[in-house]
Amino acid sequence: MVRFSIPALVALVLAGCADRHSFESQLSIAHWKDNYKGAVALTFDDWTPGHPSIVVPELQERGMVATFNVITGNVSDWEPLRAAVALGNEVANHSVTHPHPNGISFEKEILHAKQKIEAEIPQQRVYTFAYPYGEFTDSLRLYLEESGYVAARGVKTPMPGEDFAFSDSVDYFDTKAYSVMTETSLADFATQLGNVEQSGGMLTYLYHSIYSDSIKDFSYAWVIDSTFRQQLETLMLYDLWVATYSDMIRYHRQYCATKIEKVKSSPTAYVFRLKTEKPLDEQTPLTLLLKSSIDGIHVEDASKIKVMQDGKQLPVKPVSFNILENGKVRKAFSYDEYVFDAMPNAGDISIELK
Ligand SMILES: [Zn+2]
Repeated sequence: MVRFSIPALVALVLAGCADRHSFESQLSIAHWKDNYKGAVALTFDDWTPGHPSIVVPELQERGMVATFNVITGNVSDWEPLRAAVALGNEVANHSVTHPHPNGISFEKEILHAKQKIEAEIPQQRVYTFAYPYGEFTDSLRLYLEESGYVAARGVKTPMPGEDFAFSDSVDYFDTKAYSVMTETSLADFATQLGNVEQSGGMLTYLYHSIYSDSIKDFSYAWVIDSTFRQQLETLMLYDLWVATYSDMIRYHRQYCATKIEKVKSSPTAYVFRLKTEKPLDEQTPLTLLLKSSIDGIHVEDASKIKVMQDGKQLPVKPVSFNILENGKVRKAFSYDEYVFDAMPNAGDISIELK
């Protein structure tokens, strides 16, 4: 019989993002979905011709998603944006006319843009904003915070030790972004990825135009399609969660606000809950990481672990990571740790070893 060893519950420390997310020593909330080492959001501003023609299909081919910050006043055809969202991408608010922030009407520039996006693409809500020109005022950021946005992307370049590191000191209404320019080398691009993988935080890339021989997209900071493809291929080599900006931020916020509380334990099972002090408007599932070596016994197979929440069985899988083999990336699995996703504040979660 497999037994959980249950030492005295260590007092939960209510300080810092890193301190209250584990239960005993076997179970913890993963910093990022599926226990990836870090998170990356690709963001594209202004919805220029290369975005639907080049970016969306290149992402789709690699199973990646991104965030498109649209100037709603410039969009004449919403069908390509609906198609992008149907593939898992995010369409976010970049205002109606891309104004400088001083003296603007938030209603006309920001609320109307949000309403337009949500009317044209009813299957997604607008959670995030990208500041036009990267500029904002105190009243603009306050307006966004009070209007239910989860974050706004700025344009300051992250330094190692800032958003690259996993912390609860992220300024969600001025998150950093690394701008990809025409002259950005592949080595520079990869350096950012290495930083975020090593420090376990998050990284946002900011792109503008992407062009090819046939798509003449030269609005700003244009990057040729072959370079863009190389960047995506490079990104695939890292153990990073490529998420929309909104999903990345919402996971981070949910993680920082949630702790594990033990409910009860028995020799073969334990029960806990994920509790958020001030629940977010919309909860996001968190990945739980379960060590497979329990009380000296190795659980060799996910089918031996039964996780239930609210009467439903949650899928359990081994932790996966990317390995490079003959120039190709392949998924491999570690059977030392298992992951499953659970919803905070949505009923007790039980883990039972069969
Ligand atoms: Zn812009």
